[in-house]
Amino acid sequence: MRFTLQLLCRNMPPVKKVFDYLVIGGGSGGLASARRAAEFGVNVGIIEHGKWGGTCVNVGCVPKKIMFNTAMHAEMIRDHKDFGFNVEFKNFSWGVLDYIKSTFYIAVETELFMMT
Ligand SMILES: Cc1cc2nc3c(=O)[nH]c(=O)nc-3n(C[C@H](O)[C@H](O)[C@H](O)COP(=O)(O)OP(=O)(O)OC[C@H]3O[C@@H](n4cnc5c(N)ncnc54)[C@H](O)[C@@H]3O)c2cc1C
Repeated sequence: MRFTLQLLCRNMPPVKKVFDYLVIGGGSGGLASARRAAEFGVNVGIIEHGKWGGTCVNVGCVPKKIMFNTAMHAEMIRDHKDFGFNVEFKNFSWGVLDYIKSTFYIAVETELFMMT
């Protein structure tokens, strides 16, 4: 095994070093790790095969919290009159939720841009 590895390394063409630190996965963990490394002035690369932000931004914490807060508002609007408010519920726009989610995504992209 060790001999095979040595043989493989010997036969490899010379590789030009591009990054000091390479992160696989641009999710919360990968981005935090890349950000920390960049603070030390090293040249950092991130490989991401999906959307920047990973699970949390795209399908986890962020959409969950948006939905949770939306549901909380709906419940409070429903109960307002019990506390003396005269608020009339007119309509609800799902598009606003997409807009809120996209601002989180833009924040991730902006952060990536600022790291480069
Ligand atoms: C519904 C839900 C709600 C959540 N709510 C919360 C919350 O409120 N608070 C909280 O703290 N946590 C929450 N979490 C957990 C949180 O999302 C995860 O802990 C966090 O996303 C983990 O980050 P990560 O970087 O380790 O992985 P991920 O965010 O999953 O990122 C991994 C990234 O690596 C990429 N990748 C994988 N393999 C490769 C490859 N071979 N090459 C290139 N790229 C690759 C993926 O595309 C992905 O973008 C929630 C999770 C879910 C599912």
